Amino acid sequence: MENRSEILRQLLADQPAFRLQQVEGALFRPDWQSWDSVSVLSKEWRVKISQSVSWLTLSKVALLQSVRRDTFKAILETADHRRLETVLMKNSRDFWSICVSSQVGCAMACTFCATGKMGFTRNLSSDEIVDQYRFWMYFLAGRNDLEQRISNVVYMGMGEPLANYENVKISLQILLSRTDMGPTRLTVSTVGLIPMLKKILVDETWPPVRIAVSLHSADTKTRAAIMPSSYPKFLDDLAAWTREYFQKFESRRRHLTFEYVMLAGVNDTPPHADKLIMFARKVGKVKINLIPYNDTKSKYSTSESEALIAFEKRLLDARVDVTRRRTMGADIAAACGQLIVEKENKAPDSFGEVPGL
Ligand code: SF4
Repeated sequence: MENRSEILRQLLADQPAFRLQQVEGALFRPDWQSWDSVSVLSKEWRVKISQSVSWLTLSKVALLQSVRRDTFKAILETADHRRLETVLMKNSRDFWSICVSSQVGCAMACTFCATGKMGFTRNLSSDEIVDQYRFWMYFLAGRNDLEQRISNVVYMGMGEPLANYENVKISLQILLSRTDMGPTRLTVSTVGLIPMLKKILVDETWPPVRIAVSLHSADTKTRAAIMPSSYPKFLDDLAAWTREYFQKFESRRRHLTFEYVMLAGVNDTPPHADKLIMFARKVGKVKINLIPYNDTKSKYSTSESEALIAFEKRLLDARVDVTRRRTMGADIAAACGQLIVEKENKAPDSFGEVPGL
């Protein structure tokens, strides 16, 4: 599928080079919300471009906000009527982080994840990924009661980003070139698709963004039970890849994290902590991020706080670098692992029309 930049390049082939830059830049101006508003173009060009390139590839189905008004979730629809979810959440610096989806559904079938139950429908295009950012940019522009700055984008919504490698890479390149975010403000989360992780090591066009690997257990059998994408040698392969990554990108050591969702009685016991410590020692100094489990109507429940604290302490005592992620948006099913598009739209929309949609 041709992306927006390619179509624009063809359309503007006989125009001076700066014209393409102007048009692509216009897509990231919060105050211009349709082709018609792009005043640097003549009316004739605005009409011509609008006939070939839609302003936004996604339309709004529903918008929800959390009680604390620090998290918003949108259900959006693609031109071929596929639905996906994206989340806007306040971060620790009081700016906004956006969680984007990279696929409609997901084939990885992680057993604790709501999206995993949907199965896989299709990859999102680079424009559909970028337009989740633009959707929230326009949303904020229409809400002067809210902080305007979007400082981070995390690829942790629906889908496995590295299973949609090329489109994800293009979307990262676009966000890096069109916004004020640097590569350490973008995070790609993965179950750990080893062939794709290896590709990142040699792909010079892959931007130096943060990578978050969903580890969730350093015990082979437990991990296979939680994550069907796992396989017997996975932990060895991941350890080997991590060492190679650190060798190649020593300066990016802090930009690789291992995510660990805390599931009561499944992966939160002292023996599990010890296996995690052994894994961490095998790969060198790494950062482990503990995530409280959010209810997805699965067989799991979140670890008791005593178990979580004891687990964390065991890691800290062994000098493992460990952090804990705060949970946001659980009341609107916008928290990690909770994204699933409901077939019927019962979502309350308390915001009216989002400008530009
Ligand atoms: S956790 Fe991520 S990779 Fe696993 S099923 Fe859910 S969306 Fe897919």
